[in-house]
Amino acid sequence: MSTRTVPHHLMLIGGEPVDSHRRMHLFDPGDERLIATVAQGDASHVDTAVATAKAAFECGTWSRATTQHRAAVMRRIATAAHHASDDLIELEMACNGATIRLATGLHIGYALSHFNYFADLAETYAWQRPAQVQTFPVLSQSVVHREPIGVVGAITPWNFPLLLTIWKIGPALAAGNCVVVKPDEHTPLSILEFARIAERNGLPPGVLNVVPGDGPEVGARLASHPDVDKIAFTGSTAVGREIMRLASGTVKQVTLELGGKGPSIVLDDADLELAVDGVLYGCFAYSGQICESGTRALVPATMHDEFVERLVARAATIVVGPTRDWETDLGPVIDATQHARILSYIDGARAAGAAVAHGGHAITGGDFDKGFWLAPTILTGVANDMTIAREEVFGPVLVVIPYDGDEQAIAIANDSDYGLAASIWTSDNARGLAMAERIQAGSVWINDAHQINCRAPFGGYKRSGIGRELGPDALDAYTEVKTIHLDLSGGRAAKPYDVLLGNADNGDTSNDFGHAG
Ligand code: NAD
Repeated sequence: MSTRTVPHHLMLIGGEPVDSHRRMHLFDPGDERLIATVAQGDASHVDTAVATAKAAFECGTWSRATTQHRAAVMRRIATAAHHASDDLIELEMACNGATIRLATGLHIGYALSHFNYFADLAETYAWQRPAQVQTFPVLSQSVVHREPIGVVGAITPWNFPLLLTIWKIGPALAAGNCVVVKPDEHTPLSILEFARIAERNGLPPGVLNVVPGDGPEVGARLASHPDVDKIAFTGSTAVGREIMRLASGTVKQVTLELGGKGPSIVLDDADLELAVDGVLYGCFAYSGQICESGTRALVPATMHDEFVERLVARAATIVVGPTRDWETDLGPVIDATQHARILSYIDGARAAGAAVAHGGHAITGGDFDKGFWLAPTILTGVANDMTIAREEVFGPVLVVIPYDGDEQAIAIANDSDYGLAASIWTSDNARGLAMAERIQAGSVWINDAHQINCRAPFGGYKRSGIGRELGPDALDAYTEVKTIHLDLSGGRAAKPYDVLLGNADNGDTSNDFGHAG
């Protein structure tokens, strides 16, 4: 296919557009149309970008700027990005198959407001916290400083390309770090555009660099680079493990946001109208390609048949169709590999004894002949030890698991390698809150799903990750901690140096270790 008619995008290193002799081809998952090419970086581009970021950090224009200055520049960038939001929405959905409703509200709507939140956080964060005055062994005062770490590497996935990158560059930039981003191979366009907007609106060159490329080449070089001081990753648990291994060589700081297999627990007192829609929304939004999706519906055995019947009836109203149509509820999945992988999970579940209550197949014919289309799928007859209940499918597949009593619901919910998010559906808030305390997950939503509050931490228990993004302490993970210790003892006589140097001439041992009064 000719690539001459589609736009070609360049990397951004040190404020300069950079081309490469290799190109990545980007396709619309809805119709497999080639939409753009992008310069494909390699390890040498990572080296250049890291050196540029390091130089920018050391020169201090950004890293030692006042927090008020950083906040003001970040707000200017957010405003300019807001003006460009139609372009950003288009760039994002062209590559990742999000529907226009989803891309407008969640992908770009969240991303820009979250960037603004990090600008505000730069001003309210406790950059210096005094410790309690110490009297033993000598009078002294310590102050704990939070400082930027240096060069941050950010490796991000395709499902929310800009949002999940902003969860990293937002706190990184607010703290004064310089950043090299490695976006996913499918979706580098929105972050490239955002970085160009940032440059035009006051971010010094070299502070934010974007190097598209393959994970095992560009991502791996970034994760292992000796001059990268921290690596922030969102993606699969398998790659997260590899990132940890690569980062261990230089003992760099690591935060990981990984996969999930969220339970959606329907209690016997749930408002069924809400719970049915909520469970479907929690699983099928964005074709199940959200890490914190509720993909295991846990339903009281006594209500199982009625609940499944209502789920199926409602799922039948979900409109699968072109992503740019405002009437469309569900778009395609990301690519052919993922399409085949999801279908093979469904086949495997069937072979293991699950029944297809709804969907269970690819959608083909007419408008669906091109692209990667799947019917939203509901499986029953699933036990929690089946592969379909244990592994992350990352597609529109909901399994329904019956339970007897709240204790069993909690046990099944927690019987998972993952622990990212959970939903509880109940008409009794106290009961929901009590159950939430016993769920092993970083986020528990009572009577809701997919609620991301940028003012509260987000992240996973167990194999869903390490560390938290968002919330008032989001900058902690992008800062080094320095304790500055100020002696207030008044001179040599008060010091306990005698533990090394023997008694001082004045014979006063009252401040020696072990003799303190
Ligand atoms: P992925 O792990 O395949 O890829 C993520 C990123 O890692 C991409 O940029 C990729 O190029 C890079 N990468 C791949 N191999 C690498 C290597 N060897 N070294 C360094 N980098 C490498 O994940 P994906 O398919 O893009 O995204 C889906 C996964 O992400 C799902 O498991 C999902 O649950 C998870 N996810 C988690 C969150 C969260 O916040 N916890 C959010 C979104 C997605």
